[in-house]
Amino acid sequence: MYPSILLPLRAPLQTLPHVGPKTAERLTQFIGPRLWNLCWHLPDRLETRTYHDTLQGAPLNHLITLPITTVAHYPPERRTGPYKILCKDQNGALLTLIFFHGRAPYLQQMLPLDQQRLVSGLLENKGGSLQMAHPDHIGFLTTREKWTGVLPLYGLTAGLYQKSFQDIMEAVLKAVPVLPEWISPALLERFQWKSWRDSLVEAHHPKTLADLEPTSPARERLAFDELLAHQLSMGLLRRHHTRQKGVSLQKTGILESTVDANIPFALTQNQKDVLKDIETDMQSDSRMLRLLQGDVGSGKTVVALKSMVQAVESGVQAALLAPTELLARQHYQMFQDFTKGTDLNIGLFLGHLTSKEKKELQQDLESGHLDMAIGTHALLEDPIIFKNLGFVVIDEQHRFGVNQRLKLMEKGNTPDVLVMTATPIPRSLSLTTYGELSLSLLKEKPANRLPIQTTLISLARIQEVHEGLKRIMETGEKVYWVCPLIEESETLDLGHATARFEILQKLFGDAVGWIHGRMGAEEKESVLTAFKTGHIKILVSTTVVEVGVHVGDATVMVVEHAERFGLAQLHQLRGRVGRGDRPSSCLLLYDPKLSPLAKQRLKVMRETEDGFYIAEKDLRLRGSGELLGTKQSGLPNFHVASILDHEELLVLASQEARRVLEEDPALSTPIYKPLRILLHLFQQEKAVAYLGAG
Ligand code: ADP
Ligand code: MG
Repeated sequence: MYPSILLPLRAPLQTLPHVGPKTAERLTQFIGPRLWNLCWHLPDRLETRTYHDTLQGAPLNHLITLPITTVAHYPPERRTGPYKILCKDQNGALLTLIFFHGRAPYLQQMLPLDQQRLVSGLLENKGGSLQMAHPDHIGFLTTREKWTGVLPLYGLTAGLYQKSFQDIMEAVLKAVPVLPEWISPALLERFQWKSWRDSLVEAHHPKTLADLEPTSPARERLAFDELLAHQLSMGLLRRHHTRQKGVSLQKTGILESTVDANIPFALTQNQKDVLKDIETDMQSDSRMLRLLQGDVGSGKTVVALKSMVQAVESGVQAALLAPTELLARQHYQMFQDFTKGTDLNIGLFLGHLTSKEKKELQQDLESGHLDMAIGTHALLEDPIIFKNLGFVVIDEQHRFGVNQRLKLMEKGNTPDVLVMTATPIPRSLSLTTYGELSLSLLKEKPANRLPIQTTLISLARIQEVHEGLKRIMETGEKVYWVCPLIEESETLDLGHATARFEILQKLFGDAVGWIHGRMGAEEKESVLTAFKTGHIKILVSTTVVEVGVHVGDATVMVVEHAERFGLAQLHQLRGRVGRGDRPSSCLLLYDPKLSPLAKQRLKVMRETEDGFYIAEKDLRLRGSGELLGTKQSGLPNFHVASILDHEELLVLASQEARRVLEEDPALSTPIYKPLRILLHLFQQEKAVAYLGAG
């Protein structure tokens, strides 16, 4: 049940004094419909107004507030001239108020002759006389307090005004309830935090610039609350899912030994450790939900294969979902090679199969003849039914939406799930986006990898790049040439790639091939085959090569207009080379008009090949929103908390949430009960539902 103590925050804005339908509508559009929304709209600037009894000593070019008496009105002499009002202070010193387009009746009413009023505005000296143009405030002397001191300024939109917004905010803060404390006394003590309500009030009344910083105690407390609510809710979700009984999968090792003999390399220690984690999860009878994060080329596929083999050994079917057809085929090929000599049956599910092929595959899957299914989105279609799906792997998981992931999982009976991603995600982000998953990392690269030499070259020097390519061609090595991303417009990308293809073809003839997103799967496949084993030595492409393609003897990656790519993306692209035993290089061609920040970003690529470091830097340089490069990055939309500014608080909130849920998973004891209010405060109703009654 929704706690009644929070009801005042749910009230619509029109219940506030001085908020009519028009203002309510503007506020709703700009900030949100309820008092709750306004709470999080914190000031972002300050303004200081000093009060002075008299003009003597009042600072020029500052905002001042002072009492004056009106001496005379001077309507404009010409149509375009200003309306002037002469005033004096208590000592008789003069001040002229200036109004362009001033309406006489209004001004006469606001500043009647010989009356005392309070004015507030910018004090200036114009040609020896003191002036104030368009005072921000004209009112009775009783308004002094409101117009003196340090005042918060809010980011607002057209039709909303600072002063009336400040009044509205005051009314909101008055309505804000005192809530029971949910933060542990130890943390309150450690950070010297005040109560939630006091912190909120303080955050709306900054006194110094430091109070506007995300690290001010009031804002930190509010941010921590938000992060804690989020981490708790993810913790509850995780508990809910893993409490679901999964199937305990016990491997036999029979298939595995044959597969091991087929694998032409020794697994790294890191790969072995991850496999051990997965095995333990599989054997336990609670459900596995694990994220495998591994840099490009760190060897995730073989981990997927070995886990899937184990699943099959223990009597269930396993499925692998890949984001592109190229990848699905590549995985299928590798699985076929590595399972030679076993009686494993693997099906490849792609979008464009004939209906006869489809039907056969479907029947084989449903009857249980197929042990494994590898495929693209085609695997998600409704007619695809498994006999006994017990293990699901999702490759390059950021390419799929939550619903797609769920769709595959729902084809089984609480199958164990392994999701894999090559987009390295900084710890803070993985805590916020994947907090419901357990995490495995593949940091160690297979031993034989040589470092990749990365060079930044201005596009003005493209001739030199062409010359360089000639030398490379003589050595028999292969080159990827990736054309720029132009605002995700496939048409424009294509235009550029076409032009580049033609230029390179003039220079290198048949050795140049090209591939792009508009080609059919078979055409792409044949181009790639020609690049892997045939006549193509330079492959021009739009970004389709980004994900997972493997051509061992490609040694050069050229990225044109590298400044248009995200660092994570460049890192992925660079990962296409350096896979064989020859030294590789990556040329990042940039626009000569590059901004300093953009150049700094590219330099990060030259500094390091550590994908996690790159991801951290990218996050810092661009902000979290763009990091994953997709709209559906799944990042939560925090109100006060920021992943960049409150990273340490995030880690702390995550630890705190774990500790609490271990001690009192139902949040039913008196010390933890207030956390239920916190969850409601941040609208985590779904998580509250998992708490059950109590
Ligand atoms: P990613 O993690 O980017 O998906 P892949 O799984 O495609 O990487 O692996 C990249 C290449 O490295 C593949 O050719 C794979 O066979 C190879 N590989 C994987 N593990 C090892 C290893 N332990 N030793 C040598 N090569 C490996
Ligand atoms: Mg991969």
